[in-house]
Amino acid sequence: MTSEMNCVLCKSNNVELLFETKDYFLTQEPFSIYRCVDCNYAFTHPIPPINQLEKYYNSNDYLSHTASEKGLLNKLYQLLRAINLRRKEVIISTYSDPGELLDIGCGTGEFLNYCQSRNWSVTGVEPNQKARQFAMEAYNLTVYPEEKLTQLPNEFYDTITLWHVLEHVPDFNERINQIKKLTKPDGTILLALPNIDSPDAKKYGGFWAGLDVPRHLHHFSPTAISKLARLHKLDLVKSIPMKMDAYYVSLLSEKYLKNKIPFLNAAINGFKSNRIASNSNNFSSMIYVLKKSKS
Ligand SMILES: [Zn+2]
Repeated sequence: MTSEMNCVLCKSNNVELLFETKDYFLTQEPFSIYRCVDCNYAFTHPIPPINQLEKYYNSNDYLSHTASEKGLLNKLYQLLRAINLRRKEVIISTYSDPGELLDIGCGTGEFLNYCQSRNWSVTGVEPNQKARQFAMEAYNLTVYPEEKLTQLPNEFYDTITLWHVLEHVPDFNERINQIKKLTKPDGTILLALPNIDSPDAKKYGGFWAGLDVPRHLHHFSPTAISKLARLHKLDLVKSIPMKMDAYYVSLLSEKYLKNKIPFLNAAINGFKSNRIASNSNNFSSMIYVLKKSKS
């Protein structure tokens, strides 16, 4: 391997090809997934230049589900989203009474809007201009562009959340350092991430929708997050499963495989994935709860 293939987490050059895949969602361009044998962190290769990453995001998609669409599938989507929002707020409330909440990558602001109704004082950061504008206008939220992160007050936030966001951030080490600065000494950081070690990732391989290249630049797993936590002097206090993701990711993966009965297969494979994962707490997506180390 060339030196550019060094692991950005543990610096090892013991890196292997894991999957060949492509951008099934938008451009159909091919990409590879490599994995560090030493710490299990995996990454997309090649990574497009940072100034070209935006073209891989279809920004209309952000707003497509927020309008009051009709139809059974949309009703189901709205219902699942409402359940999901409530569950996330219950989880953050386990670690802190309602206080200062910062959601990085807040999208159109539904989570922050819900938390605000539960007495949290909320702030968002969102790079997508359309999503940011929607969140501010529809819910009257304070949402900043990404550049503002370095100007937010240090040790101010009780809780900082990144729901399926860190895998999109080019320099995740720098981002973790920044988040640590903003968190109160006894504050909590919650990272939700797809798990490349999950049973559904292993089943679908290069077709696994959790890869979502090249939007996902990094592919984490419980072992890689343990390593990340140690390197950044964070304590990993809990890893919480996101069981619905096994069904959703299986459904998308079945579509990428052009399977004729995607819903049935996704139901079966999502169920199987959750059952196998329950032995090792290795679910399709995980929420990692982190605290600053005292020592
Ligand atoms: Zn490594």
